[in-house]
Amino acid sequence: MHNQNNNCVFCKIIAGEIPSKKIYEDEDILIFYDINPVAPVHVLAIPKIHIESLNSINIDNIEYIPKIFEKIPEIAKNLGIFEDGYRVITNIGENGQQSVGHLHFHIIGGRKLKWEF
Ligand code: 5GP
Ligand code: ZN
Repeated sequence: MHNQNNNCVFCKIIAGEIPSKKIYEDEDILIFYDINPVAPVHVLAIPKIHIESLNSINIDNIEYIPKIFEKIPEIAKNLGIFEDGYRVITNIGENGQQSVGHLHFHIIGGRKLKWEF
């Protein structure tokens, strides 16, 4: 079984303890709708092991990154945002305004996105 963090909301989603609207799932990754979308399309892609953020990527867990990225264009096609374009974001730590401490990639689209900080 994958390693989990008992206090982590995304680990609870992976375990099915918190419901989510899933789009794609396999043994290593999960893609589901963000509960508070900032655009017409807003989904999250996560590894099924508890990695705190991109800062915690190392040689032993980096295999999850290509697994996630390989699926993103396919998911974008299914969600109808592939042609017009979209944005993939991962927030890291306090200044990155990361609010959930389990590595996740936001996939956001469906309208022209602003670039502002
Ligand atoms: P962060 O701010 O850490 O980059 O992004 C965390 C994201 O997780 C936010 O966009 C937030 O709306 C989403 N989120 C937080 N809790 C839940 C939840 O219980 N279910 C779902 N589907 N999304 C969540
Ligand atoms: Zn977690």
